[in-house]
Amino acid sequence: MKLFNFLNWFNAQENESVSLDIEKSDISKMKNSDNALEAKVQEDLKHKTETADRRVVMMYEKNFRDKFRKMGNLNQKCPYCAKEYKSLTLGEKKCIECKNTFLVQKRVQDMNTVAFKSEQKEEFETQWRALSNIKRFKHYLGSEFDYIKQHLEKQGKRNLKDNDIMQALLGAYAKNSLSAGHYRLYTAFLFHKAELMRSEQDFAEALTHYFYIHFLVSNGVTNTAEFKINLEMNAQIKESIQDLLDMGNFQMKKLRDLYTYAITHHNRFNEKSLAINIEKSYKILLKEFKDSDEKKEDIPAMRSFVLYSKKAS
Ligand SMILES: [Zn+2]
Repeated sequence: MKLFNFLNWFNAQENESVSLDIEKSDISKMKNSDNALEAKVQEDLKHKTETADRRVVMMYEKNFRDKFRKMGNLNQKCPYCAKEYKSLTLGEKKCIECKNTFLVQKRVQDMNTVAFKSEQKEEFETQWRALSNIKRFKHYLGSEFDYIKQHLEKQGKRNLKDNDIMQALLGAYAKNSLSAGHYRLYTAFLFHKAELMRSEQDFAEALTHYFYIHFLVSNGVTNTAEFKINLEMNAQIKESIQDLLDMGNFQMKKLRDLYTYAITHHNRFNEKSLAINIEKSYKILLKEFKDSDEKKEDIPAMRSFVLYSKKAS
């Protein structure tokens, strides 16, 4: 009896959160699912895709490009006074000429060793985090990987990189999970697709995917074609978004246009089926990134009482 209760409790806990991990068993369950959920899925996927203006993504992409510029100099010179230095070791150095402290490190874009000013340290590290905090999708889909590879080669694609095959694989599996009603698995595949995009420095595109994934997580997606309100933000999504906000030096409160674009563009679901809308899911982000937004203010944000007063009607 005790064990039974314990298992019940355990399962209930598991159902509460929306995990973005992919287990082999999730995939085989999805592949072997009967079409018991078919009617519900058909209803859920009744959605008219709206055309969203892509210019907003291009604007952010440009901003990311500027922020992701290669930093430092390659020529073994002090970044302050251009005096040459001899030692090739990495780390902090003091210029013998101007006495300024500077740093010698490998930069993330090309792994070249560069010298940069100490006040650029945070920016330098932010660039590293944006590319190195990536959750890699484990390669347990070996046979599927080979299958997709052959398929792409038959289509005449040449010089295929592993990432191209993974991108295609994740896209195909996301689609299959969606039509099988395994919405949580669909979301998890999209997450890994977004991580792959970030690794290829498609930062703005990756961010729109993270936003859509957050939207789905807020809608409490399950593998039995259900939705429920979920106010708890997934920690992996939060970390990935945070890395990009820091890299672009963006405040969440100023990203409403990109968020709206992301959901309008990516969403495949009927609004009537969903548990919460764009506005409510965006509010979760505002709350989660409030501290991070404040850190990016020149002047600390004041608590506004206007927000809490009732509108005269
Ligand atoms: Zn110097």
